[in-house]
Amino acid sequence: MTPEIAFIGAGGAHDIALGNSAALLRWEGQTFLLDCGFTVYPRLVEKGLVEKIDAICITHLHDDHIGSLSALLYHRHFLSKLPPLPVLVGVPELHAKLYTYLHFLMGPVEQFAQLVGPEGFPAFIAAIPTSGLHMPHMPSAAYLFKGANGYLLYSGDIGVPVPVLQRPGWVEAHQPIWVFHDVAFRRVPTHCYYEDLYPWVGKVELWGYHCNPAEAPENLRFPLAHERFKIS
Ligand SMILES: [Zn+2]
Repeated sequence: MTPEIAFIGAGGAHDIALGNSAALLRWEGQTFLLDCGFTVYPRLVEKGLVEKIDAICITHLHDDHIGSLSALLYHRHFLSKLPPLPVLVGVPELHAKLYTYLHFLMGPVEQFAQLVGPEGFPAFIAAIPTSGLHMPHMPSAAYLFKGANGYLLYSGDIGVPVPVLQRPGWVEAHQPIWVFHDVAFRRVPTHCYYEDLYPWVGKVELWGYHCNPAEAPENLRFPLAHERFKIS
């Protein structure tokens, strides 16, 4: 299987021209927006996609991942007259902080969004807690989509390979699996150094994102998401 995923942007936090990392994923007949950074809403408007989203998954609370979330929610409520959009949040602390943030910006959050914790997720989505692995204070989650024909893991920002990948037998039990993973070409504590992902080359369908492809080494052993999955 090849997943129906289209990256709206795949750049790092400051690669504005490449767009904030976010993707539209079509899975089990529904369209999920994975993150909604500050460059995302304008692109969704431009592409006529604001009304096409069935739910959003949020990985963490940096602006390049939630910076246009309230604009999207306002648009859908006031212009599109749509019911509150389900916003999936993979860990309780992320849920609580996102609620506080949206409440601060928008007031009655429930009018615009329905924040859903893992207990309310569709059965084919699992949250993988990654809190502290991107930044020490930052709650975060990766998301695993399960289907009859395979799996898709979306890492979110993370300083190491998503820990489930290291669990004995986990990769073998989740085949075939497409892994879209945060990648950095310099060693920094907040993003995953590309060579640290090499143990999974050939074992999973590995695609890097959240980077500037111009900085990639020539001998990089896995492809980058923008090469194949950029929104058209
Ligand atoms: Zn981040």
